Amino acid sequence: MNAVRIYLDHNATTPIRPEVVEAMTFVLRHEFGNPSSVYAEGASARARVEIARAQVAALLGIDPGDIRFTGGATEANNTVLFGCLAPGDHVVTTLVEHPSIVEPLAVLEARGVLVDRVAPDPHGCVSASEMAAAIEDRTKLVAMIWANNETGSIQPVEEVAEICRERAIAFHVDATQAIGKYPVDLGRVRVSSLSSSAHKLGGPKGVGALVTPNGPVLPPHLYGGGQEKGLRGGTENVASIVGYGVACELARTEGAARAEASGKLRDRLWQGIQSNLKDVRWNGGPGRTLSNTLNVEFSGLSGEVLLQALDLEGVAVSAGAACHSGSIEPSKVLIAMGRTPEQVRASLRISVGWGVDEAQIDRVVALLCELVPRVRKAEAP
Ligand code: PMP
Repeated sequence: MNAVRIYLDHNATTPIRPEVVEAMTFVLRHEFGNPSSVYAEGASARARVEIARAQVAALLGIDPGDIRFTGGATEANNTVLFGCLAPGDHVVTTLVEHPSIVEPLAVLEARGVLVDRVAPDPHGCVSASEMAAAIEDRTKLVAMIWANNETGSIQPVEEVAEICRERAIAFHVDATQAIGKYPVDLGRVRVSSLSSSAHKLGGPKGVGALVTPNGPVLPPHLYGGGQEKGLRGGTENVASIVGYGVACELARTEGAARAEASGKLRDRLWQGIQSNLKDVRWNGGPGRTLSNTLNVEFSGLSGEVLLQALDLEGVAVSAGAACHSGSIEPSKVLIAMGRTPEQVRASLRISVGWGVDEAQIDRVVALLCELVPRVRKAEAP
């Protein structure tokens, strides 16, 4: 990829950190052993997997024994929903979930699971009291995203965890976007299960974790081989797991500084946009929002067209539900926040992170000042 590009889509995925590449390359070159083998090569690979497990556990404030490595957060979310819920069960969730929660729940609903979805306020946040009100005696599970991928809106996970603890209901949290950007300390917040993904915090794609610090003890989701204490069969992806561990270690030591740096860049960007362009609106912020995320509506234009214009100038951002860009359906999350399809169409998600600097932000502001009026004019009736 061209070195002069400016990458502002860190909620879609993050650039892999050099320390991670180095650790993974070492494993790929020198650690080909199967962690299940009993001789030296196997023992060495096993030791690396266990070091990574301890690194992930240290970041999340849990016991390494509570981690099941997976092929990412989609797998972790599916595992919990399909593992916990049977026809007739009731689940409470929100209207700001990622498709890896939304779609399995739709499948389960068609099979007879009862689903209640709590709407967010105009800032993208769901209220803990509305979650509590939706819980019934028969509720089997509450499933909630910690921070939304499109708007960065942070949900009241701490309060909902307390409600679920008092009512002895399982609480699953999709913390994929929060981890590495926001303090996720499971010593402090009691969840039953939580999903995480390495590629959102400087690690490789296709690896993540399902953590179950307080149960329920979920059934195996892949049988065969007995790996991950029999819960997820299949030879471990050692290099990726090692990379994930290093990414977590970096997030643990740098997390607070990283969030602060992202916040300054994001605020500089919003300041630049707001003071130079008319008819712009920050979807979600600036209240309880991840410090790296800015979802903006540039009224009267197509976000897709602006995205393409920025791309031609070397800037990567996303429009709509950006995790699967190319989809033309307006973001369900923004619609749930009360935006019209027209407003959603005019919205872009800009997310900063490691490697972004002030000069890049200033360049993007200058580009937006030039491109937004041009795209608006071209689209004017
Ligand atoms: N949950 C959220 C909130 C996400 O943002 C994503 C990734 N876009 C996922 C789950 C899925 O993660 P993965 O890519 O590891 O399957």
